[in-house]
Amino acid sequence: MRIVLVGPPGAGKGTQAAFLAKNLSIPHISTGDLFRANISQQTELGKLAKSYMDAGNLVPDEVTIGMAKDRMEKPDAENGFLLDGFPRNVSQAEALDEMLQSESMKLDAVLDLEVPKEEVVKRIAGRRICRRDSSHVFHVTYSQPKKEGVCDVCGGELYQRDDDSQETVRKRLDVYHTQTEPIIDYYKARGLVVTVSAVGTVEDVTTCVMEALKPDEDGK
Ligand code: ADP
Ligand code: AMP
Repeated sequence: MRIVLVGPPGAGKGTQAAFLAKNLSIPHISTGDLFRANISQQTELGKLAKSYMDAGNLVPDEVTIGMAKDRMEKPDAENGFLLDGFPRNVSQAEALDEMLQSESMKLDAVLDLEVPKEEVVKRIAGRRICRRDSSHVFHVTYSQPKKEGVCDVCGGELYQRDDDSQETVRKRLDVYHTQTEPIIDYYKARGLVVTVSAVGTVEDVTTCVMEALKPDEDGK
């Protein structure tokens, strides 16, 4: 399956993606995680991306699209992938279409996670991620690690993302509404959008997501 996850920052995309990727045996491709890995390895791409990320802006398409494409071309993504955080504007969605068309591939679904703003603000304020692997995500009250400050998965140190500060979050939510939300209409026009309420426990949301992704009776 080829799935795109959309939803505001803090909606729970990465949290659901970790489960879905395992369950569907497809790689979880998060452009945010790819940028953070570049930042911790201090690559040129990481240095460039950090200045945009810390300001709550999108990293320019010229670098983002190439990075996403390189990752999607890896052998583990041959039979499907779960995109998290990409595409994030209409021109990235068009670039993804071109790439898929050139390989005679198509998307199966665009999963839109809906969460009210007050809830995403709470989720982001308490989010803690692992220094070794930013796809290991916790929350100080909703999803506590067994040992405070330590990643359950790999023992790495947990920390608060620089761009999870109150001020940057406001900007990121604004960028989401103006630049990312239009891709929902773009995909709605092709009947690809499945909207799921992401309010409730992580497990409740996972159940709704799995239900929403089940094929219809006519196999679609
Ligand atoms: P996104 O990838 O959409 O930015 P994350 O998956 O990182 O969001 O989740 C944001 C924060 O909210 C994390 O701290 C995560 O542990 C927490 N979280 C995710 N899903 C839920 C949920 N259903 N209920 C409460 N907290 C959640
Ligand atoms: P995320 O981890 O998805 O919350 O992304 C963190 C930050 O990385 C965003 O606020 C952007 O600055 C940058 N980023 C991630 N994905 C993209 C993308 N597809 N296009 C542009 N910037 C991105």
